[in-house]
Amino acid sequence: MKINSLFYEEFKEDILKCKLCPHECILYPNKKGICDVRQNIKGELYTLNYSDTTSIGLDPIEKKPLFHFHPGEKVLSLGTWGCNLKCPFCQNYEISQMKPQFLKKVYPKALPSLLENYGVKGVAYTYSEPIVWYEFVLDSSRAVKYADPNNYNVLVTNGYINEKPLKLLLQYIDAMNIDLKTFDDKIYKKYLKGGLEPVKNSVKITKESGVHVEVTSLIVPGINDDLEMLEKEFIWLSDLSKDIPLHLSRYYPAYNYTEPATDVNFLVEAFNIAKKYLDYVYIGNIWDSKYENTYCPNCGEVVILRNGYDIDIKNLNSDGGCKNCGEKIVTM
Ligand code: SF4
Repeated sequence: MKINSLFYEEFKEDILKCKLCPHECILYPNKKGICDVRQNIKGELYTLNYSDTTSIGLDPIEKKPLFHFHPGEKVLSLGTWGCNLKCPFCQNYEISQMKPQFLKKVYPKALPSLLENYGVKGVAYTYSEPIVWYEFVLDSSRAVKYADPNNYNVLVTNGYINEKPLKLLLQYIDAMNIDLKTFDDKIYKKYLKGGLEPVKNSVKITKESGVHVEVTSLIVPGINDDLEMLEKEFIWLSDLSKDIPLHLSRYYPAYNYTEPATDVNFLVEAFNIAKKYLDYVYIGNIWDSKYENTYCPNCGEVVILRNGYDIDIKNLNSDGGCKNCGEKIVTM
């Protein structure tokens, strides 16, 4: 389904400039942007994937990953096709870098009743890149909140978005997991076809706006397995706020990238450095609960035990604080 894009301007006669993400593609008649889902049709910019859903189902919120937001709950998760980055190691390339043959149509007004049917409160826009699904995500997140203010919306994103559309969307988003794929702008440009500063800006704006934010860094050999560079990232995050949860995730070969999976010893080394700066650090994709549990940064009490998606909430009060000392740990 095609609908008009919200963020673009006329560049020259019949030529448009998309203003949704920092690529700011210049679109000649009939041309599509880098994301492949926005097209100049007769002098208007259309989004081509509105309501196109590649996958829909219930997931543990920990799978997003979000460890400090409604722990132990399930969220209705859905995604589309298309992406504005070109990571050679993309773990979801079948939907991010191409249009799958089979798509379901899901409309924003259907989401509140789907939530009721599944008996859950949250929707996660995930799997591919929700930024290039912008109009659908905006309409859906509004519908979800208007139906019941206790419902919540979660975005799992690469954070490569311009400030104006981000701020509009944040009015309806309750939590975000943002990928910080490397802390080197040259690597962002060379391998991922993006840029570091806009992603840092999205993390900063999201945190400052009071929306819950967690950060994921997939550690990819040959791309960002550099402890000095990672330490710079950890320091930057802790300057923003020590309580931003960080997920260091293990890469496995995928798509056009064939380096072997990340060395677990390297992940542990990076974890130990990150712990010097940040209150909550986790290692993802290695399934070792030692690196998945949440401990209170104030009194050291174990708060949540995790074994994969098996969640055991040990010492959390109803406000999301540590039962032992009251330190705020999660958003409920
Ligand atoms: S959203 Fe797509 S068309 Fe728009 S600037 Fe980004 S990549 Fe280009």
